[in-house]
Amino acid sequence: MAPISLLTSIDATSHIHLIVGSNPLAAARCAKSLEVGAKPLLVAPESAELHYALQKRIDNGEVQWLKKAFEDEDVLRLGREEINSVVDAVFVTLSPRDPLSSHISKLCQRNRIPVNVADSPSLCTFSLLSTHTDGPLQIGVTTNGRGCKLSSRIRREIASSLPPNLGAACSRLGTIRKRIQEEDHLSHLSLAETLEEDSTDQTSAFNALVTEADLDAAKSRRMRWLSQICEYWPLRRLANITDTDVDSVLKSYAANPSTSTPLDTAHLDHVEKRGRIILAGSGPGHPDLLTRATHKAILSADVILADKLVPSGVLDLIPRRTPVHIARKFPGNAELAQQELLSLGLAGLQAGKTVLRLKQGDPYIYGRGGEEFEYFRKEGYGDRISVLPGITSALSAPLFAQIPATQRGVSDQVLICTGTGRKGKPSVPPEYVDTRTVVFLMALHRISGLVADLTSHDSADAMVVGEDGEVDRRRVVWPKETPCAVVERASCPDQRVVRTTLEFVAAAIEEEGSRPPGLLVLGKACEALIKGDKGRKWVVEEGFKGFDDFVGMAGIEELVGVSEKTEGVGSVMPLVRGDSYGRELKV
Ligand code: SAH
Repeated sequence: MAPISLLTSIDATSHIHLIVGSNPLAAARCAKSLEVGAKPLLVAPESAELHYALQKRIDNGEVQWLKKAFEDEDVLRLGREEINSVVDAVFVTLSPRDPLSSHISKLCQRNRIPVNVADSPSLCTFSLLSTHTDGPLQIGVTTNGRGCKLSSRIRREIASSLPPNLGAACSRLGTIRKRIQEEDHLSHLSLAETLEEDSTDQTSAFNALVTEADLDAAKSRRMRWLSQICEYWPLRRLANITDTDVDSVLKSYAANPSTSTPLDTAHLDHVEKRGRIILAGSGPGHPDLLTRATHKAILSADVILADKLVPSGVLDLIPRRTPVHIARKFPGNAELAQQELLSLGLAGLQAGKTVLRLKQGDPYIYGRGGEEFEYFRKEGYGDRISVLPGITSALSAPLFAQIPATQRGVSDQVLICTGTGRKGKPSVPPEYVDTRTVVFLMALHRISGLVADLTSHDSADAMVVGEDGEVDRRRVVWPKETPCAVVERASCPDQRVVRTTLEFVAAAIEEEGSRPPGLLVLGKACEALIKGDKGRKWVVEEGFKGFDDFVGMAGIEELVGVSEKTEGVGSVMPLVRGDSYGRELKV
């Protein structure tokens, strides 16, 4: 086998492809054939079990099934008349060890018919590339028999590095090219006619405004412009070229060629100036929990619109030159504040700015990110929105409190929910499931109500009364002894964890006070790594150290404090140097 292949692209329109076999690969070969405008003929015995995709194509008439065993004459009699009925290519999808595979391969090679046998490079005279197709743009990759998975991975990598719309841009550029050629052809024709008419009259020929040399010069200028932009413009800019852009550039060439240099991009600036909006999550609190994508967006945005909860450590990363607006959300003003942010975002977009809408945690977890996406899409900026995920407090706060949300034998599911439904009304409480961890966001302000809803059928908010007037008691309620934890300001220096059970959690919060934002974690997972202290109603742990140790930022947070409460009447412990989670009680 040659070390490398001659890569070609074949115009297979109306070609006849013989496909031998009936497995999923045969279905894929038929699909490929159809995609390139060829006619697939399937050879498989009537008894063959057809792949469902094949059956579908046969049923709707796309693929013709010759219900018979393969015969040598097939390759010489089923093809197009104009090439003496020889088929254009043969695809064998049988096992390479099937003697028929090598038989067909030899037969085709003797008759110079291109043949491909699945998984058997030595029996193939050609192989298919792993392809990426975007309109008229096709990219093919082969490793010459070194592995199709590898080719496909490389092809995906190449494709993902290309800007979107490149295929459409290829079409557009192709059209321009053709237009320049056609227009030039027409101008030449009309010039030839004029010259012919004028040849009887010497004087007016001398006065002709346009000469052949002028036309050639104009043509070469426009062609040069085209080849220059293809060569030098960043692909992203090329991919954004529109018909209007092209029209205006070509017109300006015709009107006054000298004003436009081949690399003059002024005409296309409005393409670049269309604003963009990035909806990004900034994580639970600690700036080290930002993603690199969001950090980059913070550094490059023209304007930043931040939620009230975005942690100050994150806001500190914003360059001083960048204007920042922080939502004026306070009770009763949430809707207005949200509307204000959206309007500011829209104004920024219209001014061609890169607007960063910075949210706390993850933008799509109780962050109204989806609504904002819809808003900007409705305003016509659907293709200008990027959404960047963030580490959600719902999953990271438990982690920073040493609660594994799932753990084998303890919890096999996690439910993230809100303690407050729409318009501040309580939502239906989730049922008790022994192996479930539930994380409640936006719940601590109504903790007593929530506990009542979870633990009984009779609480006013969660009560379901049947048609018979009886309280519906089918929902499984949570045992009061279920361990739970309140995690507040997770990953911030003043992080606090209160470990307790459903029975005491409301009292604990009442007594300790709240330190928003905080959430409630419920379920056996709360005791998977840290066992409850039976002698105490709750235990309070102060401080966050998390990962500062290895990022070399250990400072004041190294001092973590632990206080404990017994029977609800507690004494505050002095600050002690604890382990990384401040558990150690050394007094
Ligand atoms: N999009 C955010 C959640 C927004 S809703 C995210 O993915 O994290 C706001 C709620 O998130 C708060 O009421 C609180 O329950 C929770 N929360 C946010 N940050 C927190 C933190 N650092 N520690 C504990 N809870 C937090």
